[in-house]
Amino acid sequence: MLEIKNLEARVESKPILRGINLTVNPGEVHAIMGKNGSGKSTLANVLAGRDAYEVTGGTVTFEGEDLLELDPEERAHAGLFLAFQYPVEIPGVNNTYFLRAALNSIRKSRGQEELNGAQFLKLVREKLNVLHIDQSLLNRPVNEGFSGGEKKRNEIFQMAVLDPKLAILDETDSGLDIDALKSVAEGVNTLRSPERAVIVVTHYQRLLNYIVPDFVHVMLNGRIVKSGGKELALELEADGYDKIEAETLEAQ
Ligand code: ADP
Ligand code: MG
Ligand code: MG
Repeated sequence: MLEIKNLEARVESKPILRGINLTVNPGEVHAIMGKNGSGKSTLANVLAGRDAYEVTGGTVTFEGEDLLELDPEERAHAGLFLAFQYPVEIPGVNNTYFLRAALNSIRKSRGQEELNGAQFLKLVREKLNVLHIDQSLLNRPVNEGFSGGEKKRNEIFQMAVLDPKLAILDETDSGLDIDALKSVAEGVNTLRSPERAVIVVTHYQRLLNYIVPDFVHVMLNGRIVKSGGKELALELEADGYDKIEAETLEAQ
């Protein structure tokens, strides 16, 4: 589904990604871990197609298509969801209204009929039910005055409605409390399916107690230096990143 080969990227002419290789198949959940500054969010931003990130080498294909050639909206049409792609805060714009426009844009690109207000509301109610999210979320301006946990819950809700093939969730350094972590994890687990892949970018080992990944990758200085199964996250919890850093230096 997603194939990243030797991906290199710069931010403000500073090389950050230095040759990322990653293959993601349908149904798989991958966790990307690594200490602060290792380039995790840069990778997510490059996949999102954000302007400030300049790709200087390598390739990314999504279902056989050159992802790097697509603008962010085309990436969404192709079935990619990046949690932070959708606005963090638009004062005065209703959450549901915004999401319907995003969904209809995706549907239109696939030659499907756009949903009217009533049809959309029906879909939204179904998704809220499945995710056990309160209806009051709907009538609030997008993320305005949301707590960290509510923003995350809203991201998962957006993901449920847009129904992407590949979702990339960057659990930024914002301190989520344990209830928020659990609720994000439950949402992601509900949306796991054989057709959908998820990449969870996180430095919280804790999150991976709830979202059990199929693969764990550790980033260091813009490269994936170690990959393994879910047990790798537990090793990291026990030994920290220093051990992997030392092993990597030794191998070089
Ligand atoms: P992580 O998500 O693993 O903490 P980041 O991808 O955020 O790492 O950052 C990797 C490096 O890239 C850091 O040195 C950071 O300062 C730099 N960087 C990331 N985004 C920007 C940006 N928009 N402008 C300047 N430097 C950036
Ligand atoms: Mg960081
Ligand atoms: Mg980050």
